[in-house]
Amino acid sequence: MKYASQSYTRAEIEKGYTNRLLSIDLTRKEITVKDIPETMRTQFVGGRGYCLKLVFDGTTADTRFDSPDNVLAFAGGPFCGETSFAGTGKFIVGTISPLTQTFCDSNVGGHFFPLVKLAGFDAVAVTGKTDRNVLVVIDGNNCEIEITEAPQTENTLLEADELIHQWNSDTRVENIAFVCAGSGALNTYHGCINSVYYDARRKRCRAKQAGRGGTGTVMRNKGLWGIVVKCDEAKGNANKPADRDRLRIAGRKLRQVIRDVDPKSMSLGTQGTTCLIDMMNEHHLLPVNNYQYGMHDHHEHVSGDIFEEKVFEQQYPDGCFAGCNLACTKGCEQHTLTTGPFAGRTVPVDGPEYETAAAVTNLGIFDIHTVLEFAWYCDEYGLDTISAGVTLSFLVEAYERGLLTREDTGGVELGWGKPGMVMELLHSIATGSSAFGREAGRGVRHMKQWIAERVVARTDRSADEVYRELGLFAMETKGLEFSMYITKESLAQQGGYGFALKGPQHDEAWLIAIDQLNNELPTFKKKAVALFWFPMIRTWFNLVGVCKLPWIDVRHPEAKNTDHPARNMPTIEYYLELVNATLGTDKSVDDLIEESERCYLLHKLINLRQGFGTREYDRIPLRAMAPVFMNEYLFRKEYYEDYLVSVAGLDIEGKTDDQRLQLLQDYRRSEYEKLTNEVYEEKGYDLNSVPLDATLQRLGLNGDEYLGIVRSARERT
Ligand code: SF4
Repeated sequence: MKYASQSYTRAEIEKGYTNRLLSIDLTRKEITVKDIPETMRTQFVGGRGYCLKLVFDGTTADTRFDSPDNVLAFAGGPFCGETSFAGTGKFIVGTISPLTQTFCDSNVGGHFFPLVKLAGFDAVAVTGKTDRNVLVVIDGNNCEIEITEAPQTENTLLEADELIHQWNSDTRVENIAFVCAGSGALNTYHGCINSVYYDARRKRCRAKQAGRGGTGTVMRNKGLWGIVVKCDEAKGNANKPADRDRLRIAGRKLRQVIRDVDPKSMSLGTQGTTCLIDMMNEHHLLPVNNYQYGMHDHHEHVSGDIFEEKVFEQQYPDGCFAGCNLACTKGCEQHTLTTGPFAGRTVPVDGPEYETAAAVTNLGIFDIHTVLEFAWYCDEYGLDTISAGVTLSFLVEAYERGLLTREDTGGVELGWGKPGMVMELLHSIATGSSAFGREAGRGVRHMKQWIAERVVARTDRSADEVYRELGLFAMETKGLEFSMYITKESLAQQGGYGFALKGPQHDEAWLIAIDQLNNELPTFKKKAVALFWFPMIRTWFNLVGVCKLPWIDVRHPEAKNTDHPARNMPTIEYYLELVNATLGTDKSVDDLIEESERCYLLHKLINLRQGFGTREYDRIPLRAMAPVFMNEYLFRKEYYEDYLVSVAGLDIEGKTDDQRLQLLQDYRRSEYEKLTNEVYEEKGYDLNSVPLDATLQRLGLNGDEYLGIVRSARERT
């Protein structure tokens, strides 16, 4: 059944932009094609910037994730779909998140947004709600948009090939793609969005995930099953850059660096991001047992080498979009499921990524079968592997510490290294089939409160005391679960997670290598400068629809001869060529940073408007800064004793282990507070994390709608 349809005239792409927004109101069943004003383009660029602006304008301080006025925004950027350059299939999904209750965004690759752009749109904004399950169809060939009945299936990935062929009456199958959220997104707060596309080499559909923040939950809460796009307009020069030859030269140079460097360094092309497992383990950064430990003797059972040898089909160049020769999107073609509703079926598994494998090691499990099982079911259900994994590991630790009982869990005995238990709980969370699963699906922050209430009801402990204890090892900040790196030994990375506006996700700052491993940031000032520059340049990638991995994970050979090797400026110069050759401009790196600053500031303003965003929301759990309990301290006793004397400059002579642990925790807490002050100054905030008027003025966000937010935030603090 068709609920609404709308014909449109396709806007041609010019210098990377169509300057059109597709707006879908599900309550009114209205489809509107709008022009995007030039000021929006110059101020907010695209991608994350467009999502921020659409959410800021479309919502209010009272908007919650399930309010009809919440905006679910999708946007690529001016380079999304440019096939002469690596990493251009990316787009951003942004919304008011069920986990953080403020703006959260997630980036994802695949063919979806490049096709949306070819169909004529730089952004799609979905508002309203419907109690029917609907599908939006963007038909770029016939220039028609429809709101129609959703497919009668919740098996989104399992049936993706059939669906894509069913929708494919007049289009090459590579030119059709869709986004959807699975059934688990309905039952949890951390539902992800799958970006599904047809991979002609593997001859099957594949999926990448916009994992973080519950964007899939918002999608399903709106009654939106998914959005499908088809468009046959793909051709080499579709993005219409101002200077195509200049662009191609820069693209060729970047691809050459990738070809030369990756096989000798990280091997993303053959191992995907699982190559990180050994590296993280070697430096005590691989999360084990809810981030208590950073390494484990069994890590080699899930190492990148094992994935390369036993799991991935290496003959495929696995770029998630044309033009990317880093090609990290690996996959397993045949995994036989042993649990859940599809036990016995043999399925392909995309990825798994490092984050998913580490979510499993964080549960004390080191076997490939469980990693694949966990990965496939999370994707099929539409769950974020990070939030699901961290919630489970928090629950196991709470159980081990006697704060959660078998009665609470509905009879499930929790423990480390128990694959059967993990999968049983994952199924009950995704399907909502048990009372405990339904609670757990709301994430770590909710479970802290839920467990505290249970403990208070059965003991004489106070709620504050129990909540504080749980908060020591509940790995969330701002409501979002930590991504998969141990931050205890890197103060800069603690800030990278703590100050990240969406919550502790590494796509805003990942400074562990330069801080902890290379000691390139020895002072507070250097750390603070890095905590300004890296989030800004990373934000820029999310504004323009380009993958960061060819910049972050492939160090240009010339970078070592520059003042800041970690910034990888020779590669950034290629991106600058991409900008100026596409747009016909003469921008500098400082101009890109300023664009990011403005968008970043808008995110800050949304956080403040929603009642968050001040200093207390930048604090992180003790587990992210230091060992919390004696077992963690004793695991690296010699290292910590040496640290207390030679780094902290403390006298530990005659002190017991308990006293030394306390000294360490106090020291780390005070270092974090000092860093906070320094970073706020660098970013142009006051000590309560509220932007100064001068900062708003400098970035052109000094209209009344913005100034009013900071004034009321100041009154609050
Ligand atoms: S590096 Fe990987 S994630 Fe990034 S665009 Fe290439 S294949 Fe996709």
